[in-house]
Amino acid sequence: MAKQSDKKRVRPICSFCGRSANAAETFVEGPNKVCICPECIELCHNIVQQDRKHPSRSIMGPENIPKPREIKQYLDQYVIGQEHAKKYLSVAVHNHYKRLLHFDSLSQLASAGEDSEVEIDKSNVLLIGPTGSGKTLLARTLARFLEVPFAICDATTVTEAGYVGEDVENFLLRLLQSADYDVEEAERGIVYIDEIDKVGKTTQNISITRDVSGEGVQQALLKMLEGTTANIPPQGGRKHPEQSYIQLDTTQILFICGGTFVGLDNIIKKRLGKKMIGFNSELGGRVDEKVLYSDILSQAIPEDIIEYGMIPEMVGRLPIITTLSALDKEALVDILTKPKNALTRQYKRFFEMEDSELEFTNEALVALAQKALERDTGARALRSIAEELMVELMYKLPEETKHARYVITEDVVEGRKNLFAAKRKNKKESA
Ligand code: ADP
Repeated sequence: MAKQSDKKRVRPICSFCGRSANAAETFVEGPNKVCICPECIELCHNIVQQDRKHPSRSIMGPENIPKPREIKQYLDQYVIGQEHAKKYLSVAVHNHYKRLLHFDSLSQLASAGEDSEVEIDKSNVLLIGPTGSGKTLLARTLARFLEVPFAICDATTVTEAGYVGEDVENFLLRLLQSADYDVEEAERGIVYIDEIDKVGKTTQNISITRDVSGEGVQQALLKMLEGTTANIPPQGGRKHPEQSYIQLDTTQILFICGGTFVGLDNIIKKRLGKKMIGFNSELGGRVDEKVLYSDILSQAIPEDIIEYGMIPEMVGRLPIITTLSALDKEALVDILTKPKNALTRQYKRFFEMEDSELEFTNEALVALAQKALERDTGARALRSIAEELMVELMYKLPEETKHARYVITEDVVEGRKNLFAAKRKNKKESA
């Protein structure tokens, strides 16, 4: 292979696009006077990259669609509990792949002038659960597992046109970015929209003027969920008339919406009325409030969501409703220790890197979980509590704490003992 930039030689011609080199260009020459220009090199590079990124395109058949059980098993490695939601999501995602396959075969039939009787509808999912129960985590974990583009968006950033904020098209822009601007690939993707409950019409929001984040936003979201050809500004932000847009068809995109729906339990209770009172007394008032809350929430039906303030058309487009339960103390302890990327495992790894050891006693884990429960933000509190606890040790880790073994006890967590009391022995001595 030789560079063909030597001026004395005849200007080379690209064997791929047929153009000749200008004075400043370097063409790469292969055997038998075959040349390639920089643009064709780049194009080839992109083709190879695309194929590497989406091997699924060429090999996907019914046999290699991930099975619901496989998807759930993967989720199990990272998400504690929430069996109901994991199952529903696994099925929804599996069916999403199937629908894509079906859609491909429909297009082939259509181009061959034939007709198919069955059309598989999209089943978008609504996840309802308290803060810090794992809604976003489920979506993120799914994204890692899947071979389709995935975007996570926040419904509260969207406002109706005319107000400061984003247009819903920005969600699709994020999806497009995750597909490296490959429109066809993005049209097969999955979008997770968080805080969907915040765009509900609340009773306080009934106003004769337009609502900043109410029905107008829901209408815009609805269009996207139903399937529309959206015009996406490639740079994001607000749309304006002089811009050029990328067009994206949302018909095949799967939408997963999540929200806490604070107060939904009251609506369900009201609907259940007498039965609810019976349920309470049956359990003799012994039930944990959070368990009761989760139980009530799990009985949500579309009518409750409509009463909450979502427009009926939107709820109709979210036919799968699944709920996540509030995490109890045992679940929080599991979250600290069991997932592949559990917090305590991460800390232990840091210590190993400094040739030290770290251990948490069971009582310490329970105390950490108890502290998190008191903050009432689900598992979210775990990280900040652990960070607060560990910061001193981590600060000194690279210098003073080498080759030692540390045991975090309940006393350390409760602040009754200095953290450095956690240091038991020199690691070598204890060995
Ligand atoms: P939300 O339900 O509010 O979207 P997140 O999914 O953002 O909650 O949870 C916040 C953090 O709490 C996650 O990043 C994760 O570390 C932890 N977490 C929450 N729920 C679970 C769970 N069920 N299993 C494991 N970790 C969880």
